[in-house]
Amino acid sequence: MKIMVINCGSSSFKYQLLDMLTHTVLCSGLVERIGDTAGRLVHKKNPDTDTECKISEDGVFPDHTAGMMRVVALLTDPEAGVLRDLSEISACGHRVVQGGEEFIRSTLVTKEVLDNVRKLSPLAPLHNPAGIQGIEVVMKILPHCPSVAVFDTEFHATMPPHAYMYALPYAFYEENRVRRYGFHGTSHSYVSRKAADFLGKAPEDVNVVVCHLGNGCSISAVRAGKCVDTSMGLTPLAGVIMGTRCGDIDPAVPAYLCAQTGFSPEKIDSVLNRESGLKGICGLNDMRDIHAACAAGNAKAVLALDMFCYSIKKYIGAYYAVLGSLDALAFTAGIGENDDITRAAVCAGLEGLGIAVDPAANAVRSSEPRAISAGGAKVPVLVIPTNEELAIAQAVQRVLQER
Ligand code: ADP
Repeated sequence: MKIMVINCGSSSFKYQLLDMLTHTVLCSGLVERIGDTAGRLVHKKNPDTDTECKISEDGVFPDHTAGMMRVVALLTDPEAGVLRDLSEISACGHRVVQGGEEFIRSTLVTKEVLDNVRKLSPLAPLHNPAGIQGIEVVMKILPHCPSVAVFDTEFHATMPPHAYMYALPYAFYEENRVRRYGFHGTSHSYVSRKAADFLGKAPEDVNVVVCHLGNGCSISAVRAGKCVDTSMGLTPLAGVIMGTRCGDIDPAVPAYLCAQTGFSPEKIDSVLNRESGLKGICGLNDMRDIHAACAAGNAKAVLALDMFCYSIKKYIGAYYAVLGSLDALAFTAGIGENDDITRAAVCAGLEGLGIAVDPAANAVRSSEPRAISAGGAKVPVLVIPTNEELAIAQAVQRVLQER
């Protein structure tokens, strides 16, 4: 069985075609600057092997359909292609950011489902319209191919009301659907299962705190395989400090800033999402650049890194308390998987909680799941590479099997 996974943004999309028998990536790629005069496509055949064949094309892609038409042509291309016929694709999995309370599991897309996803767009105005567009394009270009929507929120649907409710007038929940939803769900689900696997246990038998630290960052508390709390909220702006997002701040700040600066609420929202976080403090949002600036003695970069690690440490403490006992602390995503400095700083001083990192194990670079905890420390600290595309493809497979 071959499954195509599509992660669609407003002016770009990423794709991966996976062989579900071997869990190998047959090809992957990215189409970006859609609608621009200088679009670009990068397509990789056999990306995980030494037979990789990479094609980069500059081109004009007026819309997502044009980009997808080119990708589909490449899939059966004699050189770059990996299929004899497009009918070999069994299904397409689409990342959809917001599933609301309606979609608590991955769902086969029908017209009714699409209409309901569309109704959720006010809750994710930057993201859901893009996901919908990806689905519509596939329905048009690959009409034989069932589409499955996999929601970023679905893994968090098991949170209890005391974790997902905000202490606001109840009508805001009933009438405006204001509550914590959480995001990065496919990653938290995949990594918590892999962490259990690494420990040789069933997901039902472990409590895990997962730290997904990429450009966007979120922490989740997973009890016996089910999410019980997560740091992102109504939107992916809440929680720990991120590359350009502020994370948790006093909720009075936006109104205060509107009054003080005369900025519109939309402008403030954009500042909180795009010009805050690590970038707001030191002007840099890529962690590698921040380390270079720290090494060069940039005090603001040092402050940004300190604030970032401190915000993560606070959530680990909070979620340890939520879970009562902890079987693993798992780091994942770009920073979580690669940045030993952040992992060490986050865990420093948590020895009293049974959390301690072994410096040599922490320094090892690897793309494999691994333990980095110090000998004798009670809680295994793990690095578990995430694989959101495989997690989406596995969700698609489950939906197809249940049909
Ligand atoms: P996204 O949320 O866009 O999927 P990623 O998971 O790719 O993001 O993570 C991007 C972050 O990971 C960036 O801040 C980047 O600097 C950081 N990162 C990637 N590689 C390294 C590395 N070797 N050391 C430190 N940070 C890294």
